[in-house]
Amino acid sequence: MTIENSPSAPARVNLLGLSRAKLEDWFVSIGEKKFRAAQVMKWVHQLGVDNFDEMSNISKALRDKLKQVAEVRGPEVVYREFSADGTRKWVFKVGDNSMVETVLIPDGERKTLCVSSQVGCALDCSFCSTGKQGFQRDLSAAEIIGQVWVANRSYFEDVPDYDSRERALTNVVMMGMGEPLLNFDNVVPAMDIMLDDFAYGLSKRRVTLSTSGVVPMMDRLTQTIDVALAVSLHAPNNTLRDELVPINRKYPLEELMAACRRYLHYYQGDFGRRKITMEYVMLDGVNDQPEHARQLIRLLKDVPSKINLIPFNPFPHAPYDRSPRSQILAFQKMLVEAGYICTIRATRGDDIDAACGQLVGQVQDRTRRSEKWRESVARSGEILRSPQ
Ligand code: SAH
Ligand code: SF4
Repeated sequence: MTIENSPSAPARVNLLGLSRAKLEDWFVSIGEKKFRAAQVMKWVHQLGVDNFDEMSNISKALRDKLKQVAEVRGPEVVYREFSADGTRKWVFKVGDNSMVETVLIPDGERKTLCVSSQVGCALDCSFCSTGKQGFQRDLSAAEIIGQVWVANRSYFEDVPDYDSRERALTNVVMMGMGEPLLNFDNVVPAMDIMLDDFAYGLSKRRVTLSTSGVVPMMDRLTQTIDVALAVSLHAPNNTLRDELVPINRKYPLEELMAACRRYLHYYQGDFGRRKITMEYVMLDGVNDQPEHARQLIRLLKDVPSKINLIPFNPFPHAPYDRSPRSQILAFQKMLVEAGYICTIRATRGDDIDAACGQLVGQVQDRTRRSEKWRESVARSGEILRSPQ
């Protein structure tokens, strides 16, 4: 059981990251009834409550006991930005020098939250700014679900009346920083809570795990939890994919496609409708040519898929450019004519840099700049106004 302790003694159990099964076990372990888990989960996840005193259907005696031994502690927000188009972003501090980001992208009725699973990433894809940061550490289940909790809760700020609070998020994609399948033991309980009717109650079609292709863990995922799968394909042949997504050298396309087929086969009773989302970043002159579209069509012919073209999001010193719009549209046309569902990801939120690891980079730069400024002020003994 992943239990986070507060630095103050006595250590309290952070209930935020516990799935219902684990929370039930925990209540039993403190001599209470199992059903308390569902009650507390509703307060915490559906109503955004972190104060036991507000949990009015729980006796005063139990609330006092909970205050002694437990807490509900979300990750520390160090930066947040709500833009006019409805996009919301957060940067969380998770440990001394570590930050992760979470982005909420609205689209009509849909509100999709893009959640991080690790600080940095070890897989070093050549077009990814998170990869360039290297791997620092896994997030705990509480830090992962904590991103969902904070985002959902942000919609309750102007709704003091609990009865009027409605679930805000409709979709979660594990497409923030990190490779979720390399943090399996924390990602699975967090996704469990996303699906739980006593928590976020999201449908399994609306929780998507995105992987760069950690083949053995894809099989483990299939056996463990039923969620939608997205694969970061990005190249239609091994030579190019070896370069863009280095984990391809370990698990080449033949193995990746076989793992995709196993996932689809496992759910074949699913009205035959399940598809894998293939993500394909559009890099100018690298993977966006007609020959690449033709190879992709051949590669995916027996793997029911929908293809999501992602215009490359440039970052400082990135070795690529975004494909021109006309090139992306021509690529899409070839796939659509071959019978595929092929969408182009909207690049909305660009104004505040909604892309994989980039916001953290900016906030870190800003923090460093203001730290340097504070240090220089302290050294010179001058009294100055803030550089903002
Ligand atoms: N590690 C997982 C999930 C996080 S990355 C994975 O790779 O699937 C989420 C998506 O953003 C992936 O498809 C990734 O390839 C894509 N991505 C990363 N950097 C990008 C960039 N600079 N521009 C556009 N998409 C990017
Ligand atoms: Fe890691 Fe995904 Fe970025 Fe690749 S694209 S470096 S797997 S976060």
